[in-house]
Amino acid sequence: MITIDGSEGEGGGQVLRYAAALALLTREPFAITNIRGGRAKPGLMRQHVTALEAAAAIGSAECSGLAVGSTELTFRPGAVVPGEYHFAIGTAGSTALVVQTVLIPLMLADAPSRIVIEGGTHAASAPPFEFLAHTLLPVLTRMGPGLSVTLDRHGFYPRGGGRIVLDITPAPLTPIACMDRGTFKAGKVEALVAGIPFDIADRELKAARKVLADWPDDAFAPVQLSAELGPGNALLITAECEHVTEVMSAFGQIGIPAERLAKTAAKRMAGYLGSGAFAGPYLQDQLLLPFAMARQGAFTTVKPSEHSRTAAALIARFTGHQFIFSEDAEGRWLASLG
Ligand code: ATP
Repeated sequence: MITIDGSEGEGGGQVLRYAAALALLTREPFAITNIRGGRAKPGLMRQHVTALEAAAAIGSAECSGLAVGSTELTFRPGAVVPGEYHFAIGTAGSTALVVQTVLIPLMLADAPSRIVIEGGTHAASAPPFEFLAHTLLPVLTRMGPGLSVTLDRHGFYPRGGGRIVLDITPAPLTPIACMDRGTFKAGKVEALVAGIPFDIADRELKAARKVLADWPDDAFAPVQLSAELGPGNALLITAECEHVTEVMSAFGQIGIPAERLAKTAAKRMAGYLGSGAFAGPYLQDQLLLPFAMARQGAFTTVKPSEHSRTAAALIARFTGHQFIFSEDAEGRWLASLG
């Protein structure tokens, strides 16, 4: 039984999702205390409960302490059973973060799976649908498994109600090296609005354009969605390169000017493009688990985040595989398995 102090490192929900995925992959039970101890309001939120319920369902696991607000739980995994599953978060909690919990175990199962998840698809502090579809899954597909995801319905904060469908055809994971992103092919900036004034999209695009000044005019486009999906707003900034597509995002928040959100996301994209690295700040932590399960591989990236350092420490505890993060003379980082 591995014991985890959930307040260590990043101290958020990711510790729990990574622990559940690792438990399913290694068949090692764990007990966690101080869940989300690094957050202002510690304990399980609805989305974390659903993520753990999903892990327990696909992995025939026994889980005690699983309730909203709980700060401790134990998780005893059984065998991973592929198949058709449906998980509903019930809030705008992230569908992509439920994916983060079950994806790698199901990629290594012995038959295909179809997973339907309802909840948020475009909300703060989580991967938007487009990041899953265009950034993460294409890299994982290069390692062997067949993966596809479709967006049936957008789900914005606070309403939720989004729906995605994920199809997984398992395969052993082949180690890959992701050193170069290749040439820049195209940039795209989309401002999604649903049931809110359309000029918010224009303001976001204008602010993003100031930062990404060398992108052509037709790269910037407002997207009006059906008002019944709203209120909702997301800015999606996509850079398509030869070997990887990165998506940076921002989500409308009451009290924060649209310009500020857009400028922050655009600067993040400019920073990523300037770094020359393969993986941006979010792809970075999400590649560690599949790379660890492939037992070899390396990728270039930006400065390691606390999420990545925390995930790497957890991976080492469950699997013994150690990631090394090293910086080269140009300030580009390499994440590799030691
Ligand atoms: P908490 O509320 O405790 O912060 P959480 O479960 O919402 O918990 P984190 O522990 O912060 O989340 O983990 C968030 C995960 O979402 C990380 O894997 C991070 O890489 C990913 N992520 C966050 N924002 C984005 C984004 N804009 N694009 C892609 N991935 C993102």
